[in-house]
Amino acid sequence: MGLPRIIGLIFSMHHASQATPEDIARIREKRFRRLLRTAVAKSPFYRNLYRGIDIETCGLSDLPTVDKRTMMANFDDFVTDRRLKRAEISAWLEDKSHFRKMYLGKFIPFRTSGTTGENALVIYDRRALDFVHAALISRQAHPEEMTVLDILHLMFTALFVKRFGMTAVLVTGGPYPAYTIAAYPPPFYKLLVKKEIYSLFDSVEKIVEKLNASSCNELYSYPTMLSILAREQLAGRLHLKLDPPLATIVSTSEPLTESTKRLVQAAWGMKIQDTYGSSECFMMARSCGSFERMHVMADLCIIEIVDRHGKPVPDGQTGDKILLTNLFNLAQPFIRYEVSDVTGYSTEPCSCGQPFPTLLQVEGRTDDIFYIDHPGGGYDAVHPNLFIGPILELTQVREYQLAQTGRNEVTFFYVPVNPAIDIESKVREVLENGMRRAGLLGRVTLKTTCVGVIPRDERSGKIRQVISLIGAPADLDDDMLRH
Ligand SMILES: [Zn+2]
Repeated sequence: MGLPRIIGLIFSMHHASQATPEDIARIREKRFRRLLRTAVAKSPFYRNLYRGIDIETCGLSDLPTVDKRTMMANFDDFVTDRRLKRAEISAWLEDKSHFRKMYLGKFIPFRTSGTTGENALVIYDRRALDFVHAALISRQAHPEEMTVLDILHLMFTALFVKRFGMTAVLVTGGPYPAYTIAAYPPPFYKLLVKKEIYSLFDSVEKIVEKLNASSCNELYSYPTMLSILAREQLAGRLHLKLDPPLATIVSTSEPLTESTKRLVQAAWGMKIQDTYGSSECFMMARSCGSFERMHVMADLCIIEIVDRHGKPVPDGQTGDKILLTNLFNLAQPFIRYEVSDVTGYSTEPCSCGQPFPTLLQVEGRTDDIFYIDHPGGGYDAVHPNLFIGPILELTQVREYQLAQTGRNEVTFFYVPVNPAIDIESKVREVLENGMRRAGLLGRVTLKTTCVGVIPRDERSGKIRQVISLIGAPADLDDDMLRH
């Protein structure tokens, strides 16, 4: 069952990439109704929530929204298989020997690495994960240019000449989202792809050593790690060569910053392919061959952009959060589910011709925006890119974290490439120049601290490159906020 399904999905998704927006709307409508029917038939939570709503005719906005806290509090009723119990799944996940096995022979559970509040428990079944893999395969960098023959040719080359090399540097060894995808490949995957996964928990030296000994077509990691590796490549310690065809560098899980894009371009002479997803829906958007912006996989999910109060935000503007509807995971229906990502729809068409709408630059999680005092009252929202853009120039910095340590104070923690060389004054000079350009010098106090290691986030195991340790002000209010 698995193999024919995934091959069918690969070709139908490839076909959809070259279809019209009207075709995509039809696919979406069909999947949306199927999702609603499944939710009402099999989830007591949704049956109750949608009481009095005609799910065959209702519009998306007729449906109430759902948040993580509600989903977790009602987990056992929320899912569509009555055997799935939150307490039992959590206990099962605690046992490391269960990793790479299917829960009840059918489900893949994992925890999210969300940056706020409790972690969500997310469950996919094999079918839903096949959708993710099919999308990863069929929507590589240039799906709009590939013909069916091209795909067949690549498959045959991989089968009979040389397997496609995919190297990932990820948080490993547990039910973490990106690693979970990699750890549960579809059945035939090994015939086509030689996959190597290196652990983010290894030292940079060790990862560099392993990468130097490997050859691959695709490098897949978090942007924070890609920027570290790009620095290693530029410094001449890493000699990673990405072989054609399909030589790609793919960024996952975290917002991609301009500085990382520029670093990767400088290090490998190629643009980074950005992906946007969440644990609740791995494949939400992906950049196309033109690499200008990301296309929403509108046949796989629905993304609504809303403000802090849940009101729709017009195209061309960024909202405060999104409402996500995952159209392919029937095991745990996420329908108008709140996710705290800041993004918006672009009003400009992309030159590539894909039928999918495009997003404005995903700016990261709202928690990572720094709110500083505005002279005369209120606050200014300062995007951390204003600070971290200039960090590109700091090639002697290996790892860093920019933390808002006071309302008007930021601290730059950094690990130098060579601890024997004092780069403090250079670091200050570069950051102050950036702050001056952004009009922040004199308003924000800058501290710099050289450290041996940047602590990894407890939940995700990754470095949070930008973090507000004090969060948004309690009295933050739309009227007082100035951009
Ligand atoms: Zn495009």
